[in-house]
Amino acid sequence: ARPRVVVVGAGFGGATCAKYLRRWGPALDVTLIEPNERFVSCPISNWVLGGLRSMDDITHGYGGLARHGITLIRDSVVAIDPDTRTLRTAQGLQIGYERLVLAPGVELLTDSVRGFADAEAAGRVVHAWKAGAQTALLRRQLEAMPDGGTFIVSIPAAPYRCPPGPYERACLVAHYFKQRKPRSKIIVLDANPDIVSKKPLFTDAWNTLYPGMIDYRPNSPALVVDAAKMTVSTDFEDVRGDVLNIVPRQRAAAVCDLVGARNDGNKTWCTVDFATFESTAAPGVHIIGDSMASPLPRSGHMATNQAKVCAGAIVDLLADRAPDPAPVIANTCYSATSDSTAGYVAHVYRLVPGKGYVAAPEGGATTTGDARNFRYAASWAKNIWAEMLS
Ligand code: FAD
Repeated sequence: ARPRVVVVGAGFGGATCAKYLRRWGPALDVTLIEPNERFVSCPISNWVLGGLRSMDDITHGYGGLARHGITLIRDSVVAIDPDTRTLRTAQGLQIGYERLVLAPGVELLTDSVRGFADAEAAGRVVHAWKAGAQTALLRRQLEAMPDGGTFIVSIPAAPYRCPPGPYERACLVAHYFKQRKPRSKIIVLDANPDIVSKKPLFTDAWNTLYPGMIDYRPNSPALVVDAAKMTVSTDFEDVRGDVLNIVPRQRAAAVCDLVGARNDGNKTWCTVDFATFESTAAPGVHIIGDSMASPLPRSGHMATNQAKVCAGAIVDLLADRAPDPAPVIANTCYSATSDSTAGYVAHVYRLVPGKGYVAAPEGGATTTGDARNFRYAASWAKNIWAEMLS
């Protein structure tokens, strides 16, 4: 029988890994398991909130993966037995594997902000940190907000998915307010002591494009949200808003816990061998993307690069060859600051034994947004969606 590799989660990491497993290991039987019918992209979802793009623009079908000979199963994995190398899905399928790849993204810790889980269940307050129905709901809330209203976005302590994402969100909501509700305000409650990523880009945008509109408050973790009073409370104050957006703390997705892979110091993220992305807790199980423990930024671009290193290593391991001990991965991350300006950071990392992935010194970043990078940002998204889904 052909060796079977099962990939869990068809997001940036999983879809890319499945594709490259088949491309580099044409003899492999590759099964990809994902509950969602269509892929909704987190990158560019802030553009939807700002009115630059629609939900349709960030929603893509999985049909393109079929031509690679991948078996796509629409289901969720609910149990894994690493001893017998079999897993079970919510619909009761039992599937065996030689190697398993978990690329399940993050679990949002809604209980980390008191009152948030109830407010979310009632459809009053969303995180919109997984693109989909909550993105559309937050956009509708912003559209319904009167001119002169206040939008509050709270940012958890790092590490979390997409370090620059909340600050880009503040920019693009400000862009929308500037066009349509210019008397409105944005309060950014940041649990971190300072802007976590691309600080020069965002402070320049806030000062020059949206002067006086964005009130940035560092060291202000959201502790309680009250959807009746429409307040977010920190240690020092209760802040009232008209639209509340809580981005809670995060950890590796729940499926990782089925094999005891959330094994870093805080039992939050999954530690791996960086050359193969094999879990240090569960032999034969590889973990890529946001669930993995590392100081690398959690981005879609990173997840696709890790996916390729992992796919190559699995093809080697199944053929009894030693995987590349020093793989190279890259990250490029664009953030839009308006409907016509964006900036970026870009780094190349090489695995140095004993040190992890080390950034090459010539990485770059922009300090101000410009039109050329806005066009590049739009192209980046189209290219990465094509890379993972077709
Ligand atoms: P995901 O893409 O989340 O995929 C995980 C998949 O696993 C999901 O489809 C899920 O349904 C599935 N899954 C989970 N559990 C199971 C299970 N038990 N069984 C089966 N399937 C399961 N990154 C960039 O590179 N550039 C950007 O500009 C950018 N902007 C962003 C903006 C925002 C607002 C946000 C929130 C994120 C942004 N990101 C960006 C980050 C990026 O979205 C993530 O880093 C990326 O999605 C991680 O990929 P992943 O494969 O680990 O997880």
